[in-house]
Amino acid sequence: MQYRKDTKSGNSLSVLGLGCMRLPSDIKKAEALICAACEKGVNYFDTAYLYGKNEEVLGAALEKFALRDKVFIATKLPLALCRGPADFDRFFDKELDRLRTDRIDYYLMHMITDLGLWEKLCSWGIEEWIQKKKSEGKIRGIGFSFHGTRDEFLKVLDAYPWDFCQIQYNYYDENYQAGVTGLKRAAAKGIPVIVMEPLLGGKLSSGLPREGAALFGKLHDDWSPSKWGLLWLWNQEEVTVVLSGMNEMAQLSENTGTAESAFAGCLGGAEQEVFGRVRETFAASYKIRCTACSYCMPCPANVNIPGCFAAYNTSYAIGYITGLKAYMMNAGVISDKMSGPSLCAACGRCERHCPQNIPVIESLKAVRRRLEPFWFRLGISLVRTVLGKGRA
Ligand code: SF4
Ligand code: SF4
Repeated sequence: MQYRKDTKSGNSLSVLGLGCMRLPSDIKKAEALICAACEKGVNYFDTAYLYGKNEEVLGAALEKFALRDKVFIATKLPLALCRGPADFDRFFDKELDRLRTDRIDYYLMHMITDLGLWEKLCSWGIEEWIQKKKSEGKIRGIGFSFHGTRDEFLKVLDAYPWDFCQIQYNYYDENYQAGVTGLKRAAAKGIPVIVMEPLLGGKLSSGLPREGAALFGKLHDDWSPSKWGLLWLWNQEEVTVVLSGMNEMAQLSENTGTAESAFAGCLGGAEQEVFGRVRETFAASYKIRCTACSYCMPCPANVNIPGCFAAYNTSYAIGYITGLKAYMMNAGVISDKMSGPSLCAACGRCERHCPQNIPVIESLKAVRRRLEPFWFRLGISLVRTVLGKGRA
C-alpha cells in the first residue's frame, strides 16, 4: 500500500480508501472485508449517516476487532435532513453512537451543491458549531463532499478554511463538476482531495463497452479497466485518497494490488492517448449519467431507478439483448413485485436527491421506450396472465 500525506493534519493516508456505501449487506461478509482491508494497509474508511446501517456495521466491526485506533473514519452530516441548528448535534451524536467512537477524524458536510447551501448553514451557526466540536476533540478535520458546478465548487472552497474536500473525479469526469480545475485549485490551497466515484459506480470497469476494453487491452493486456481507471487518478499528485466501493474480496485484492504501484507520474504519453479514445467510446454508450449511488431510493412507487438506468446503459455498452435481460431482472418484469418505469407517479422526490441532476422522470420514459417495445409488452402481458401475476 502506498500512503500520501494529508498536508493539513500530517496524517499518512492510504491512497486507497474503503467507500463503505456499497458494503455487502451480509454482516459477516462486511466484517471480513473491513478486516481484510485493514490487513492490506487501508486506513481510510468513508461512510455516512444516509447510508442505511452502514455506520453501525463499520462501528461494530472496528470495535469487535479492536481496529478503531488503526484507522481514520470519515462520515457526514446529512444536510438533506437538517431543518435547523438543533439537527447538527442530533445527527452528530447519533453518528458517534452508531460508530462506537468518541471522535470523527474526517467530518464532511454531505453533498454541498452550491455556495447558497453553505451560506444557509452559516446562518444557522455551523461555523461556531464546527469550532466547538473541534475544540472538544470530537471532530478532527472538517470538509465537504461536493456535487455541483465547477464555479460553485471554487466559491465553496474559498468560503471557509477547510481541512479537506471530497469530489467526484475519474478519467471520464475530468471536466465534470469540480473536475481537474477544482482538484488543482484545492491542492494549490493545501487542501487534501478525497476522490469518490473513481470508476463511476463500476461503469468504467464492468460497464465499459467492448471497444473501450479492447483499446486498453491492446496497450497492456494484463491491466483490467479498473486498474487503468485507478492509475489515472493516482498518476496525479494532487489526489490524496481514492475511495473505492469494494464489496467483494476479489475487488479488494485487485485494487490493493494496483495501489502498490500508485505513484504520481506512473503513466506516460501512450497511456494518456488511450484514455482519450476510451473516453469517446464510453461517451457513446453512457446515455444516462447514473452512478448507482441510490440517493434517490427508495422510490415511493417502488421503481428500481438505478437498476432501470443500468439496464438502459448496458443495452448501449454491451448489447441490446444483454440490456433487455438486465431490464427484465431489475424491473421485476415477471415477478410478483414489479419495479419498472411504468409505476412512476412523477412525484419528483428522486430528482431532488440526485447528485448527478438526472431528469429521472423523463429518463425513465426513455428507458421504457427503448426496453419495452410493443412486442415486448405484449409478450410480458401474456406471460404474466399465464402465471397469474396480473397486468404489466
Ligand atoms: S418521480 Fe417517479 S421514480 Fe421518482 S421517486 Fe417519484 S415515483 Fe419514484
Ligand atoms: S438516479 Fe441519481 S440518485 Fe439515483 S442512483 Fe442514479 S445517480 Fe444516484
